[in-house]
Formats: sequence, structure tokens, C-alpha cells
Amino acid sequence: MMVNLISDTVTKPTEGMLRAMWAAEVGDDVFREDPTIRHLEEKAAALFGHEAAVFCPSGTMTNQIAIKVHTRPLDEVICDEMSHIFQYEVAGYAFHSGVGVNLIRTENGILNAQQVEAAIKPRYDWLPVSKLVVLENTCNKGGGSIYAIEAIRAIRQMCLRRGLAMHLDGARIFNALVETGDSTTDIGAEFDSISVCLSKGLGAPVGSLLIGSQDFIAEARRVRKVMGGSMRQAGYLAAAGIYALDHHVERLREDHQHAHLLADALQDLDWVAGIRKVETNIVIFDLKGDLMAASVLENLSKKGVKASAFGPQTIRFVTHLDVTRAMIDNAITALRSL
Ligand SMILES: *Cc1c(COP(=O)(O)O)cnc(C)c1O
Repeated sequence: MMVNLISDTVTKPTEGMLRAMWAAEVGDDVFREDPTIRHLEEKAAALFGHEAAVFCPSGTMTNQIAIKVHTRPLDEVICDEMSHIFQYEVAGYAFHSGVGVNLIRTENGILNAQQVEAAIKPRYDWLPVSKLVVLENTCNKGGGSIYAIEAIRAIRQMCLRRGLAMHLDGARIFNALVETGDSTTDIGAEFDSISVCLSKGLGAPVGSLLIGSQDFIAEARRVRKVMGGSMRQAGYLAAAGIYALDHHVERLREDHQHAHLLADALQDLDWVAGIRKVETNIVIFDLKGDLMAASVLENLSKKGVKASAFGPQTIRFVTHLDVTRAMIDNAITALRSL
């Protein structure tokens, strides 16, 4: 039995999702004539208590559009050193927006208000202008770590006082919310813009949403167009997103239970050096001595378990919709037999 723990992006549409896609009513969304996309955008905006949303091909695009709309060239974005916008988006902040990044180093990718305020630059001709704070919840490289709503509120109050905008990279925001019990509107109230991935734990094949005010999203639509991200009859994809929001949020808890089972099993293995605290669907662990991730991954793959290296001696497992309890049991058996 194969189990793919490489990422929560590897899921395939379920039968119910495919039926919803098949039945979608579509039109040309460049003319705003796709009723299914309009429905998804209105649903997402309302869910987070904002005015509007725009459907995009990827979370990289929604993040990059947000940075572009919130900043001008020579500004800077304050974020954690582990954040996706810095690590995995090809330095798009520089390419698309002509801005710099002001990085904060933490243990797990979770910032506090003191750290962010200390990073804000004074206004001098020779310094970039600190304009935008980006928080990532959950933080991927931080091991799927979660922000407490109180920490977000403290950063928000400080940013309002200091005149900085806030964007949420919420690629996995629902993984955080099912754990904390905070509502989507609780989170929505603390940010000027929010990016949500439908193609991660929610199990849609493609798509992300950028959510914000009417004016912000109007500008975001123009930036999406210039990036080449406006789509035509993409209602078939939006239908998958609507289905995912309706059916795949609560079940994320199951992925988190599976991640805990994997972490518990790793705990007992004498070749594992340390496991990052498991909070959601991501398990990151280090290897002892001179054991390399590449060789462990090769041996695991021979036993039907696929995962990815997160450093020369670090491995990441991600649980998701297409991983069953039986597959987790098999993966644990494989780990114990290495
Ligand atoms: C996956 C991810 C994104 C966006 O990725 P795409 O593959 O471009 O959709 C953004 N932020 C985080 C934290 C992610 O994990």
C-alpha cells in the first residue's frame, strides 16, 4: 500500500467533488460571467467577514498580488525568515513589487508584537519604508505551527497604531482554525487581506482565494490580469473549491490525528534525533549522527512511503485527505523496519 506524505497538495478530487465540477455552471470570468466563480468569491468573502474576494490559480499568486497592492517600490515587507513568501516564491516580492524583506528569526515561524514593532524601520531617506506585515498561519517551515488569536490581535493593534497593513498567508488557515476553535470572522477581522489555498488540505485540485475590501480586490483583479492569472471558464475549478469548503474543513482534524500517530512512532526510533512539536498536519524531524535524509527517503520509498527532505538531515511528513488510517499504520510499520 503506497502512502504519499510529500505534501497536502498531492490529493486528487473525490467522487463527490468531481460530480460538483461536472455539474458546474460556467461562463467567461474575464467578463465576470462565471456564476460559480462569483459564488465562490462571495462565499469566501462572507466567510471571513470581508467585502470581496478574487479566485486565482495559486497561493503564490494571491500572496504576490497582495504584496503588490499593499506596497510601492522601495517599501519593505516584515515577515518571519521561515515564511513561504521569502523561502518559496522565487523572490517574487523583489521581481513583481520592487520591495525588500525585513526578516525576523524565530524557532517556529510564529511572531509576536514586540518582535514586529522592533523591526519597523524609522523614516530616513536611506531606509526602505516598512509597509506590510505578513503572518503565515499555520507556518509550513515552522512545522505547521499555529498563531494564538491573542498574539495576532496584539500585532494588529500595534500595526494600526504604526500605520502598517497586515496580510495573512492562510494557505493552511483551516488547519489552524479547527484546532483553536476560532472562527473565520475572528481571524478575518485582524487582517487587511487574506490568502487561502483550496488545493492544500481542503483537497481541491487547483486554486486559491485572495480576500479583502472592495477597493483592494478591484486593484488585485488588475494585478492578477497583468500576471496572466485571469481565467475563463474556471468555474469547474471553483466548483471544486466550493465543495471543499462545504465538505473538507472539519475532517482536517483526522489529518492532525494521523500526524500525531506518526510523531508518536518516530519518538521510539533510535535513529531520530528530534521531532518538531506537532500542532496540525505536518511532522518535521531530524536524523541522528551522519544519517542523511536522502538515504532514509530512498529506503522508505522502497517500502511504499513517499516523503520529502526538509534539509540534509531533516525530513517532512504531511498528512492529507488521501491518507487513510490504514496507510498511516503501514507507514509506521515501514519506519520501524528501517
Ligand atoms: C503552498 C503554500 C503557498 C502557496 O503555494 P502554491 O503552490 O503557489 O499554491 C503559500 N503559502 C504557504 C504557507 C504554503 O504552504
